[in-house]
Amino acid sequence: MLPSVMDGADFQHGSIFFVGTATVLVRYAGFTILTDPNFLHSGDHVHLGYGMTSRRLTNPALDIEALPPLDLCVLSHLHGDHFDRIAEKKLNTALPIVTTRHAAASLRRKGFTAPQGLKTWETATFRKGAATLRITSMPGKHAPGPLSLLLPPVMGSLLEFQTAGEHTALRLYITGDTLIHEHLREIPRRYPEIDLALLHLGGTRILGLMLTMDADQGVEAIKMIRPRTAIPIHYNDYTVFKSPLRDFQKAVRAAGLEKKVVYLSHGETYGFEVPASRWHQQGRGTTAAAEAVRPERQAPTSYQSATATSATNGDGRRGSGISAGLALLGGAGIGAAIMYWSAPQKMAGGSRSGANGKSIPSHRKGSAVERKPSGRF
Ligand SMILES: [Zn+2]
Repeated sequence: MLPSVMDGADFQHGSIFFVGTATVLVRYAGFTILTDPNFLHSGDHVHLGYGMTSRRLTNPALDIEALPPLDLCVLSHLHGDHFDRIAEKKLNTALPIVTTRHAAASLRRKGFTAPQGLKTWETATFRKGAATLRITSMPGKHAPGPLSLLLPPVMGSLLEFQTAGEHTALRLYITGDTLIHEHLREIPRRYPEIDLALLHLGGTRILGLMLTMDADQGVEAIKMIRPRTAIPIHYNDYTVFKSPLRDFQKAVRAAGLEKKVVYLSHGETYGFEVPASRWHQQGRGTTAAAEAVRPERQAPTSYQSATATSATNGDGRRGSGISAGLALLGGAGIGAAIMYWSAPQKMAGGSRSGANGKSIPSHRKGSAVERKPSGRF
């Protein structure tokens, strides 16, 4: 029998908990990662720049106070529906936030002490127990042509989870708010094996201009990136989102891609299993994924370790007192220790009803959704 947990890092099981908009909790290999924190409620307005606002139509599946302890945050760009005033006020200011250089500078001015700004293809590396997490900035384009200069720069993120033996156990790609554009083609060239892709859809339209992928572009992204599994997010939360999820479901069916797509409602968890051949310490049966093209590794510029005194995760699966080390590569040499966002409440993982006790609007009726939210890579 192979141990599935090595030094607190469970390489066998992971999960994606969908909070809403582009906010998810990724849990894998001992890491808990929050993306694009947006905790505003239905009826609240966000500012999108140039005096434009949009009203939120949904509630987050849990409130920010109910988050489990976090290791880091990944942020695609600085727009109010991706990093809102609640996140600004309530996130631990020492939480590492991996984002664009533009957003990192802005977050630093707001008092956050550990943002990591990345240029496209740059990587930040974090270590925790036996696991290494490499986060690489992927190209993104928020508006057509020169109009993109009027919007904040945006990035996609590639999260690669590696074992102590430097075998890549899992690759997760998050598109960020982007349209299909030429530079996206470089992603599958560099990373031909992606396990899971989170697609920011919604077909956001402002003044008639489309700013995020709609149904057809979402399908094009799946065809281009070729992930084993794709999960649409960022699809029904704001009045500026004009392309409903049912249009994407229709386009997915028309393209014969139903088996590749998993649909999550707010508050639902997608659990996945990674075969032992990917993470077994001896690297026995190393897969094509682990052998795929990788950018050059950079030497660590700083390293610090810290012992967290209260690192019990909300689900209680992992014990307290996890010794956490963090190394940041290629950045400004910020050697902040991983800080834990301590909140005693249980998260609503696995629940079909939202953390607010409200039932989640279901689009699972009929034959549109055939897959249970779980899978094996
Ligand atoms: Zn957005």
